[in-house]
Amino acid sequence: MELPFAESYRIKMVENIRRSTRDEREKWIREANYNLFGLKSEQVFIDLLTDSGTGAMSDHQWSALMLGDESYAGASSYFHMKEAIKEITGFDYFLPTHQGRAAENVLFSVLVQPGNIVPGNAHFDTTKGHIEFRKAFAVDCTIDKAWDTTNPYPFKGNVDPVKLEETLKKNNDKINFIIITVTCNSTGGQPVSMENLRMVREIADRYHKLVVFDSARFAENAYFIKKREKGYENKSIREIAREMFSYADVMTMSSKKDAIVNMGGFIGMRDKELFTKASTYNIMFEGYITYGGMSGRDMEALAVGLYEGTEYEYLETRIRQVEYLGNSLIKLGIPVQQPIGGHAVFVDAKKFLAHIPEEEFQAQTLAIELYKEAGIRGVEIGALLADRDPITRKNRFPELELLRLAIPRRVYTNNHMDVVIAALKNLYDRRKEIKHGYKIVKEAPIMRHFTIQMAPLG
Ligand SMILES: *Cc1c(COP(=O)(O)O)cnc(C)c1O
Repeated sequence: MELPFAESYRIKMVENIRRSTRDEREKWIREANYNLFGLKSEQVFIDLLTDSGTGAMSDHQWSALMLGDESYAGASSYFHMKEAIKEITGFDYFLPTHQGRAAENVLFSVLVQPGNIVPGNAHFDTTKGHIEFRKAFAVDCTIDKAWDTTNPYPFKGNVDPVKLEETLKKNNDKINFIIITVTCNSTGGQPVSMENLRMVREIADRYHKLVVFDSARFAENAYFIKKREKGYENKSIREIAREMFSYADVMTMSSKKDAIVNMGGFIGMRDKELFTKASTYNIMFEGYITYGGMSGRDMEALAVGLYEGTEYEYLETRIRQVEYLGNSLIKLGIPVQQPIGGHAVFVDAKKFLAHIPEEEFQAQTLAIELYKEAGIRGVEIGALLADRDPITRKNRFPELELLRLAIPRRVYTNNHMDVVIAALKNLYDRRKEIKHGYKIVKEAPIMRHFTIQMAPLG
């Protein structure tokens, strides 16, 4: 008999979570004005709101905390982090920051001027925010296949070389760098192939541009390259990651993802002059260059996390769990973005609740129903997130209305995934009984989804 797959770790410490009743959940979600961000975490049984900063640290990470050197300048923890970054990514220079968007803020203070254009593959929302805040523009050069949820293309994070070259030709003098997000969060945690990264490097060289990697999930990207790209089957995750980074000049990192810590980030750089310029902004926004918003103990845990996050056994456990959830839903005929990405399963709410009009917010409706059904918290990636058009103030209805179920690292078991699968199956079977969606009662002028208040229709 073939031995089944099992997790590459065992559980040493637990946090109790509580099942609730449907009556309780109906009351709680009403009190939260039908916004899942408004719930207390103790009102949630299985929390799939995000995979950011929600991972479980290992025994090695917890013990590394004790080694934290809390010096303002030149802490040994800073040098441990530097050593890990050099070994895993190859970058000689780095600046610590308190999280990923802080790294963007510091780096873009040097690299982005008003009127600039920043081409990339479906920029993450904070990345786009930091570009647009500086009166510059993000141009999306992702391949078209990424927007068809049924297309099983293995690298739906790839850049379209034709779109990229056209953008460069048209706006050459307005472009300082190209930004590539690995894996591409906005298309569903979809990877970028090594061939595509090499191609972006080659194009950037011809136009004398920098290449920046938004690297939050670089290790998950390396895992997909190993699994799906010819010639990489026998390479280690770290060899693949090193080759990926060899095509970049700069990296920004949200360490709350693949470095498996609860808070932290950094910028990695090759160029001393860029490092010197960015250092000024780091000191202004984040803290001195040897801590940048991080405690010594957190830098220690991050250094260990970079090694653990690039171990094949860990990544296999992690991504197989996400695939287990996604593929089980596919087998039940539930529409999801395919193939399953690295960190989350994206349910296609436009298809799931096709009988509800988009003006009633299908993905939000599904998210609320799933919470009421089983105490599971996902997040809407659709019209609420897309906000209103800044000029017409009309609701923007994006191509995809998705319910994202993000899986925290090393936190839940497949029994929890089975609860999610059964809850979605129940909802799918009685989807026609869900007759009405929701309307907006109160909203902020920008980034409304975090604080929006809604009310049921019908
Ligand atoms: C999370 C994330 C960021 C921002 O990082 P924070 O740590 O949340 O500030 C940037 N880019 C990508 C791709 C991300 O997933």
